[in-house]
Amino acid sequence: AHDVHIIGGGLAGSEAAWQLARRGFKVRLSEMRGAGEMTPAHQTDGLAELVCSNSFRSDDSDRNAVGLLHDEMRRLDSIIMKAGEIARVPAGSAMAVDRDVFSAEVERTLVEHPNVTVVRERIDALPGDGLTIVATGPLTAAKLADSIVAATGQDRLAFFDAIAPIVHRDSIDMDVCWIQSRWNKRNEASNEDGDYINCPMTKDQYLAFHQGLIDGEKTAFKEWEENTPYFDGCMPIEVMAARGVDTLRYGPMKPVGLDNPNDTTPEFPQGRWPYAVVQLRQDNKLGTLWNMVGFQTKLKHGAQVELFRTIPGLQNAEFARLGGLHRNTFLNSPMVLDRQMRLKDAPHIRFAGQITGCEGYVESSTIGLLTGMMAAAELSGQEWTSPPRTTAMGALLSHITGDAEAETYQPMNVNFGLFPPLHDIGKKQRKEAYTSRGKDDFGEWLKTLDAVPA
Ligand code: FAD
Repeated sequence: AHDVHIIGGGLAGSEAAWQLARRGFKVRLSEMRGAGEMTPAHQTDGLAELVCSNSFRSDDSDRNAVGLLHDEMRRLDSIIMKAGEIARVPAGSAMAVDRDVFSAEVERTLVEHPNVTVVRERIDALPGDGLTIVATGPLTAAKLADSIVAATGQDRLAFFDAIAPIVHRDSIDMDVCWIQSRWNKRNEASNEDGDYINCPMTKDQYLAFHQGLIDGEKTAFKEWEENTPYFDGCMPIEVMAARGVDTLRYGPMKPVGLDNPNDTTPEFPQGRWPYAVVQLRQDNKLGTLWNMVGFQTKLKHGAQVELFRTIPGLQNAEFARLGGLHRNTFLNSPMVLDRQMRLKDAPHIRFAGQITGCEGYVESSTIGLLTGMMAAAELSGQEWTSPPRTTAMGALLSHITGDAEAETYQPMNVNFGLFPPLHDIGKKQRKEAYTSRGKDDFGEWLKTLDAVPA
């Protein structure tokens, strides 16, 4: 028998299990890896595996929001921070870890804990009753994702992060392209004549390009391709192309309001609108990288380079990054979760980790930590008060559970933009002001919590 069923033994699930266990509650931790299952990103069966980088980012709790999160997690005896310390490798002011040592330490601690039962099993449906924490991450297995959709509604769970290719500015042929915003509407902050670089296409060029998108070799998802919805704003360009020959000309390749200065006649001294256009938008402050607007794609990398170099002006394009789509399952949390991370329609179920729309190892672990504490408070019959918004934990939690715009909700790292602003303080001192206010307020909040047995 257990008090809480945690589904997913990643970063968030492991931290939630630890916070409950050390408060005396019994946890069943279900992890599908080790039961013949794998995600497209994980490589091992270990709990809390880091799927990509080995860094927890800045450890500077005086000047950095994620550093402040580290500090708050340590003050709550986080297993992720403790194991991270044991596994730590040199990385300047950042905190980086040996991923194998880290995962092994989290797993050993949990497996040895008398209150934790780690079960290697895949869970396919949200449990109908019993306190549950779902921490199955951005790569939640398909059947469980279906069950979550059934509980929240189709449009409350997004599945993809889309990436459009990024091109080095100095590889773009500006004798062919020109800078202009559609209808000359430009962003005041821009230091160019407009906000977009435009690559013009004739009808023949467009038709050939359209056919190239349809014929180009695509990357197959390892699993779960069919009935996976695409959301507006991240529809792959080739999926749009397949809807009709003119769909792109009415979408991202729309030429209206763009006068090609290289194609003038006495009638159109400013230049004519091309048949279709590819637009690039500045991607970094330096202005050295520009991304292809609306060009998120599943084309194979080789096919992208070949096809995109047929775009006039991009014949010599050097790509800083090619396009891609990867699964990133996340809830529209501001809409479906209450302030305690509970599903409004089924409050015995909490969500934690990246599936709630935070982004990053540390943020995911933090939400696991808080969710574990919330469940513990509920089991003890205590009222729960979240850390104040002036703390990193409070700021992140408020963002997820209600302050973010539900309409445009996207995964987010912790950052000072989520904190109540301190306008009166000069820019130089502001970061320290945020962290020092946060540390004080966190200390006050800690005093309101019951002591946890060591
Ligand atoms: P996870 O750590 O993924 O844990 C979820 C667990 O649930 C997994 O162990 C999975 O096997 C299990 N599971 C899934 N479905 C089921 C089921 N039905 N039944 C039982 N178990 C199940 N963040 C960074 O800070 N730095 C990075 O470099 C970084 N790189 C990333 C690269 C990729 C490809 C992805 C997808 C994400 C990356 N992230 C990165 C984002 C994020 O921080 C990590 O995904 C992080 O692991 C999320 O923690 P989590 O606990 O929410 O999910």
